[in-house]
Amino acid sequence: MTRPDTPPSARLRPETPPSVHPHPDTLAVHPPHVEVTGSRPLGVPLHQGHVFAFDSADALAEGFTSPDAFLYARLGNPTVRTLEDAVARLEGGASGLSFASGMGAVNAVLLSLLGSGAHVVAQTCLYGGTYAVLTDLAARWGVHVTYVSGTDPEEVRAALRPETRLLYLETIANPTTRVSDLPALAAVAAEAGVPVAVDNTFASPLLCRPLDHGADVVIHSATKYLAGHADVLGGVAVFKDRELYGRVRRHAVEQGASTDPFAAWLTLRGLQTLSLRVERQCANAAGLAARLAAHPAVAAARHPSLASHPDREVAARLLPAGGGGVVSIDLAGGRDAGRTFVEAVRLASLSVSLGDVKTLVMHPASTSHHQLDAAALAAAGIGAGTVRISVGIEHVEDLWTDLEQALDQVLKKAA
Ligand SMILES: *Cc1c(COP(=O)(O)O)cnc(C)c1O
Repeated sequence: MTRPDTPPSARLRPETPPSVHPHPDTLAVHPPHVEVTGSRPLGVPLHQGHVFAFDSADALAEGFTSPDAFLYARLGNPTVRTLEDAVARLEGGASGLSFASGMGAVNAVLLSLLGSGAHVVAQTCLYGGTYAVLTDLAARWGVHVTYVSGTDPEEVRAALRPETRLLYLETIANPTTRVSDLPALAAVAAEAGVPVAVDNTFASPLLCRPLDHGADVVIHSATKYLAGHADVLGGVAVFKDRELYGRVRRHAVEQGASTDPFAAWLTLRGLQTLSLRVERQCANAAGLAARLAAHPAVAAARHPSLASHPDREVAARLLPAGGGGVVSIDLAGGRDAGRTFVEAVRLASLSVSLGDVKTLVMHPASTSHHQLDAAALAAAGIGAGTVRISVGIEHVEDLWTDLEQALDQVLKKAA
């Protein structure tokens, strides 16, 4: 019903039952539905509702078989779809799927593509949660995993078997900042018909688009750079083609790690400033890495922008716009120095996670990688004195002042 006294931009559609004078009890349950016509919201509308009503029984029946219909939010929601389409476009993929967390996306991809007895080739330096899922799949479902360095195509070729179902890589490894030679590794997998999944969380689609380099699926913890403000968990997977998307979507709907629409809305809000944040984070990280490398408390600094980086040539090809916002340093004083440093920072925060607008520091050997013994730490490229710095968007001079005073405290304590 269009009321003559409402502006043309706010029409009310009759949601109320067709009685002439509905009881207030009924009116309370059926608020009017405001339809926007003649203008459109500039921000992304938040469709928080999880059930959708239909006018035709046939349309609802069709909805059950079409991935594009909206009937129940575990299967699809317009705000969540906006996020899926936005990230799919950024990554240059056919379709995207959004999840309640990055681990939701990792699980959906692994569980959809692997069955019992399947074989996976994965890089050694994996995100801890992903490593845990692969270990669990190996123990309980007989999935076989071969770990490779992620830098040598011949190593991947030697690891492939007839039952290999997936090559799993990360664009920039945590916390070593090693950069995978995606085109070279993906080419080996393609020859064998093995799909390639790449966790692109550390790079963001603005620095690298793995689908352009031969990947079939790209995974993000949207919690990190995509959202960027430490206020929402999320994950997104983007697929090169609709067939793979369909396979993972069927599983995802069953898995039920769907994104809450408000979380998708917050992620979309963060996404709008991704380019500004990533540009500043890359510049800050490169500037700080060079200064950190020269400080006497630091034995080694790692960032793809440094001339000393082992994958500098690969980084120049794959990450031409910047080496990302994560820097890691090895403190000469080992474990004690690492712990002193992370407690000494004042502007930066001692926190897990990364990709935030705020600068975060952590000491992997005593936290995220505490289960690893010295040999396993060394294999993952992590030293007792390694500190990971996720560089934020603060002014670089303020950041340097903070990091330098923390390093000076490390030296003072060791003296
Ligand atoms: C954080 C992270 C994940 C997991 O994401 P959550 O949103 O925490 O579930 C996966 N991969 C990488 C590289 C990450 O940094």
